Amino acid sequence: MYRPDAGELHAARERLVTYSARLLADGLAVGSAGNLSMRCGDLVAITPSGISYDDLRPADIAVVDLAGAEVDAAEVPSTETPMHLAVYSATRAGAVVHTHSPEVIALSAARDELPAIHYAITSLGGPVRVAPYVRFGSDGLAAAATQALAGRRAAILRNHGAICYGRSLDEAYERALLLEWLAHVYRLAQAYGHPKTLSEAELAEVTAEATRRGYGTRRSGAAGRSGAAGRSGAAGGGQ
Ligand SMILES: [Zn+2]
Repeated sequence: MYRPDAGELHAARERLVTYSARLLADGLAVGSAGNLSMRCGDLVAITPSGISYDDLRPADIAVVDLAGAEVDAAEVPSTETPMHLAVYSATRAGAVVHTHSPEVIALSAARDELPAIHYAITSLGGPVRVAPYVRFGSDGLAAAATQALAGRRAAILRNHGAICYGRSLDEAYERALLLEWLAHVYRLAQAYGHPKTLSEAELAEVTAEATRRGYGTRRSGAAGRSGAAGRSGAAGGGQ
C-alpha cells in the first residue's frame, strides 16, 4: 500500500465533483443525498456531508485514512464514511457509489432481492440482495451492507438506497446506473404478471461467455475513460 501524492488526491477530488453532478443529472440522488468515494493507496477521498452537489468544489472533498481518521478535510466527511470504509476493507474496490435512486428504494420496501430479470445483472455478480434496514450512518448499516455485498458488486439498502463498487469510479457509477435500470425493468415486467427470471446456470453461461469474449478489456489495450483498468461491459466479469 502506498501514500498518494497531492496530484493524485487532487485528481480524485475533481473526479468526485464531476460524478456528484452526474448523480443529480441522472436522477440517482437529490440535493446532497448519496455519496461517492475513491480509494487512493492507503487513503480514501469522499464527498462531504450536507453540501448540495450543485455547490460542491474539489476542495470540499474530504480525505480520510482507512480507519476513518481525517487527513485533509475542510468539510465534514460523509455520514456514510463507515459504510464506504467497510466496503474497502471487505473487497478490492477502487471506488464506492451510494445512491438514493427511486426504483431501488421502491423495490427495497417491497422485496428481499432484485432477481435476474436481464442477463446484464451478471456484471453485478447476480441477483442483488436487499440488506435489512439499519439507521443511516451507523456501523450496523456498514455491516449489513457488506454482508449483502458478499459475492456481489451491488447491494440494495432497505428503505434507504443502494451501494455499488468497482475498480474505478467510472465502473462503480456504471453499476449504480445499471442497478437502477434493472429495478425499473423488473417493475415494468411485473405489470404483465409474474416475470420469468434467469437461472443460476443461465447466468453462469453468460459470465463464461463474457469472459471468453474478453468483455471489459479493449482491443487496443487502452485504459478506460477513468484512466483505471478497463471498462465494464454489459456482462463484464471482474472482481
Ligand atoms: Zn444514504
